[in-house]
Amino acid sequence: NKQVILKDYVSGNPKESDMYVTTSSIKLKVPQGSKALLLKNLYLSCDPYLRIRMDRIQGSNVFTSFTPGSPLSGFGVAKVLDSGHPEFKEEPEQFFKIHHTDVPLSYYTGLLGMPGMTAFAGFHEVCSPKKGDRVFISAAAGAVGQLVGQFAKLMGCYVVGSVGSKEKVDLLKNKLGFDEAFNYKEEKDLDAALKRHFPEGIDIYFENVGGKMLDAVLLNMRPHGQISVCGLISHYNLNQPQGFSNLMSLIYNRIRMEGFAVFDYFHLYPNFLDMVLPYIREGKIVYLEDITQGLESAPAALVGLFSGRNVGKQVVLVSHE
Ligand code: NDP
Repeated sequence: NKQVILKDYVSGNPKESDMYVTTSSIKLKVPQGSKALLLKNLYLSCDPYLRIRMDRIQGSNVFTSFTPGSPLSGFGVAKVLDSGHPEFKEEPEQFFKIHHTDVPLSYYTGLLGMPGMTAFAGFHEVCSPKKGDRVFISAAAGAVGQLVGQFAKLMGCYVVGSVGSKEKVDLLKNKLGFDEAFNYKEEKDLDAALKRHFPEGIDIYFENVGGKMLDAVLLNMRPHGQISVCGLISHYNLNQPQGFSNLMSLIYNRIRMEGFAVFDYFHLYPNFLDMVLPYIREGKIVYLEDITQGLESAPAALVGLFSGRNVGKQVVLVSHE
């Protein structure tokens, strides 16, 4: 019965010391007649948006701030120990029952969970990909990016990813089937790196990071190209807004740049499962996970998302089934 507590609102880079793990004294019992569920957490998901919720948020209808002194909450996979719902037939809001258990349960925090839906919606719904399109993905070895790349390859696109280490470059090229990959931390000139990989320009950019990468991408988009703005992780720890130099390219090249929130697409989850489960079972999609052990490891795992410590989807194993 442990919890990760947020000490105070976070400014700048998150640190492990912004959180602490404690044992709560909450009574573990489902009151008679209530619709409550008593759950045993198995896997918890570390996601970049949790950092956004550690800020004092203003003007967002997507996120609310966490309360300092209270536990962090997020997505996870849990076992129902007791329930006001006989056989857990009725699904209370915020919960859904896992029907396909022939795949690793941890996948429901990533590939078959919110990040998987994000990759699906942001690529297939926000963009209109076609065979032969030249697709660029940033944070390409992460929970979302590695899937966008594989979806694009399955459509017959040319796919390049940027990542922050040589190990991740090798994984993209040798394990995830990307055509090319580069380490953005080793490139002095991102514009030149993109021109090297996309001499004819980019049709679709799947944006996970923002900042200098977005500015360089804007110089390399093909006319009528599309930018799916999924995330801007390089901005989440900034105290000042980031400026851009190359926005005129949106006009010159008639680019469509569209942000999206995965929560608007959850109704498509059954379609997503129909598409993705056969690919998993046939081994046509693989999924990298980075699983740390124990709730005590959660603060470091969450902070690690902002230095690229995670290789693949960051999961915390809390308890074996
Ligand atoms: P990842 O698993 O990709 O983890 C984050 C990765 O981002 C790190 O591993 C690191 O990889 C990279 N990164 C961290 N800081 C920076 C930086 N300053 N500049 C460049 N790269 C950085 O996370 P997810 O796949 O879960 O999320 C990817 C993006 O999608 C995030 O921006 C997230 O907020 C967004 N998102 C949006 C959703 C929506 O509904 N719109 C839903 C879910 C996610 P590296 O080693 O390559 O640097």
